[in-house]
Amino acid sequence: MNDKVSPLENAGVNTRLAHIGYSPSDYHGFVNPPVVHASTVLFPNARAMEMRDQKYTYGTRGTPTTDALCEAIDELEGSAGTILVPSGLAAVTVPFLGFLSAGDHALIVDSVYTPTRHFCDTMLTRLGVEVEYYHPLIGAGIEQLIRPNTKLVHTEAPGSNTFEMQDIGAISAAAHRHGCVVSMDNTWATPLYFKPLDHGVDISIHAATKYPAGHSDILMGTVSANAAHWERLKDATVTLGICGAPDDAYQLLRGLRTMGVRLARHQESALAVAQWLEGREEVAKVLHPALPSFPGHELWKRDFKGSSGIFSFVLAVDDQAKFKPKAHAFLDALKIFGLGWSWGGYESLAVHVNLNDRRICKASSEGPLIRLQIGLEDVADIKVDVERGFAAAKAV
Ligand SMILES: *Cc1c(COP(=O)(O)O)cnc(C)c1O
Repeated sequence: MNDKVSPLENAGVNTRLAHIGYSPSDYHGFVNPPVVHASTVLFPNARAMEMRDQKYTYGTRGTPTTDALCEAIDELEGSAGTILVPSGLAAVTVPFLGFLSAGDHALIVDSVYTPTRHFCDTMLTRLGVEVEYYHPLIGAGIEQLIRPNTKLVHTEAPGSNTFEMQDIGAISAAAHRHGCVVSMDNTWATPLYFKPLDHGVDISIHAATKYPAGHSDILMGTVSANAAHWERLKDATVTLGICGAPDDAYQLLRGLRTMGVRLARHQESALAVAQWLEGREEVAKVLHPALPSFPGHELWKRDFKGSSGIFSFVLAVDDQAKFKPKAHAFLDALKIFGLGWSWGGYESLAVHVNLNDRRICKASSEGPLIRLQIGLEDVADIKVDVERGFAAAKAV
């Protein structure tokens, strides 16, 4: 084999996940990279120190451990560079701070992750950025909302909790005609099922806390940029002094190795449960982009390579006064599902979703919205648990 050509270049995704980011021969053959704990980096002499003439110069600017993870993410995203930040939320706020200035206008999708909206409505607004929310199904129509001072268009598809799909290619093309930066929170699909940069996005954001970490024990965010936006993104994280920690980076890289097989299982089980729910009389509707009945299904089929383990359903309840008591009875009866927010781990989770923050895409009137993360448990057991929930809700 010609050793200039990477054997991973045309390899399948699980082969790449098993080998990207680190070569064991770089560190005495050990399969995993060393965890480098560092603030101080020493220089051999005063001239090297003055010129910062070596690969590593300061702990916040990267170590061999964080580089291994960043290189792996770059390989998956097709990006020019990736930064690590201490949470998925910081993976949104750091690029927003890096690319927006006082007097700018930013367009944010209305089905955005709720803490992103909170950042926009509080700190970003206080810093003089005008924030406007747009309908997730706007597509090329985004062009009508772009003003001379619009600098950033933020997308998230599928949307948080309600899973609206977005035409990322059309939105990016329109935004670029006006010189706007396009960012995307791609946490649901991961770069395995959707590669934002291939669809015109400039900044791909990931709550690596979710599927890459995969075990409900690590908080981290990754932000990956195309070549035109990489220097400014890197400058933002260095300027803010925000960086990923070495132990977490190590665990993330470890999680990535199995992300493909975990996601395949999440996908299969979630789809099986979603299809089963569609046929249940207790359910008004199921919000899952891979279901043909879902309004954004065609976009999902056109652009995405798969679906992950999280979706929602509307519990059929006639009386509005009973939305909350029935939703709570459903959740409280569950024995396998945990009640928790941060998904992407191996265990199933359920949440009663509150959509009160929405400006445009309001809550359904057919009943309360329940979000499920389908974990790695056996589907038969998951269904039995959901049936416990239905029985308890019915009794209210
Ligand atoms: C969870 C999540 C985040 C935030 O990740 P944290 O690490 O919990 O801060 C950001 N975006 C989306 C879409 C998420 O689901």
